[in-house]
Amino acid sequence: MDYSGRIAQLRLAMQKARCDALLVTHLPNVRYLCGFTGSAGVLLLSSRSFFFTDGRYAEQAAKEVVGAKVVITKSPALTAAAKQAGRMKRGHLGIEADHLSVTAAEAVADALPKGVRLASTRSIVEQLRMIKEPVEIELLRAAIDLGCELLPVAQKAIRPGGKEVEVAAKLEFAARKAGAQAMSFETIVAAGPRSALPHGVASEAPIPANGFVVLDYGVILHGYCSDMTRTVHVGRADQEERDLYRAVLDAQLAAIAACLPGAKLTEVDSAARDVLKQAKLDKFFTHSTGHGVGLEIHELPRVAQGQKEILRPGMVITIEPGIYQAGKRGIRIEDVVAITETGYDLLTSARKELIEI
Ligand code: ZN
Ligand code: ZN
Repeated sequence: MDYSGRIAQLRLAMQKARCDALLVTHLPNVRYLCGFTGSAGVLLLSSRSFFFTDGRYAEQAAKEVVGAKVVITKSPALTAAAKQAGRMKRGHLGIEADHLSVTAAEAVADALPKGVRLASTRSIVEQLRMIKEPVEIELLRAAIDLGCELLPVAQKAIRPGGKEVEVAAKLEFAARKAGAQAMSFETIVAAGPRSALPHGVASEAPIPANGFVVLDYGVILHGYCSDMTRTVHVGRADQEERDLYRAVLDAQLAAIAACLPGAKLTEVDSAARDVLKQAKLDKFFTHSTGHGVGLEIHELPRVAQGQKEILRPGMVITIEPGIYQAGKRGIRIEDVVAITETGYDLLTSARKELIEI
């Protein structure tokens, strides 16, 4: 991990945002910038870098933190960091506005001398995280490979009359046994009519004898999140269901093919949407095509209409079009691609032909 390179880039971004110092409180950002993986700590970038945490993390911080002076505090880490920032006497202290509560921001402001003002920043670290280093892409690939290896476990667990949660439980147990630190989000197992819920977290509902089952899950491995969706069919799929599945798969393949450096994110989203439009199914595609993934399950960029961003080498995004017919069925297929200098690298290797169970 190129911590010093990241800090150097961040300092440039801080200059642009007219921040003399920056208080990093969002833990994935803290981890990205100094390597700390614990659950309490604040990084302050001023003329020097300081990492504040409490006694519980003294040992871990000493081992993990790179490029910042570790300070173990008895007072809240945020207050201690604000006090340290106050030593600059005047200037602007950037805060991560999307991640700091109003109460916390007020406490920081109270700890500062008159000459130091708070400045809201948005996504200042997340913008850097959007472009992954080669080592990060390899960590993502390892997490995604593990996700793919677990798919047969989920498929085997699906049986008519069984509960969705049983499928999720078996999958999650296998994930932990295989080394996953955690799931990257609540496992989605949505069977029969529940497959029409784009976010159908596994429930007590029984799996019907005939119909689609959407499986959407991810694991965290070495801090990096995987994310994949496969839709399988319990019993024989009829022709209509096959056609619908084919349309979603074609939409997904079209969007993947549009993943080229320099392409607009809106173009990738449109590539999927246009295929579904041709099949008169676009009104059932009710969400955006994808999202960035990395230390967090949802990161920049968003693969959606209205986004100005263009694809750049090092971006890692999901491509996950779906259709949802309320009360009947839903189908979604999701892979992760890494953008390269010349095109894309499909990180998800699990096959996508319709599987009947
Ligand atoms: Zn997903
Ligand atoms: Zn996703």
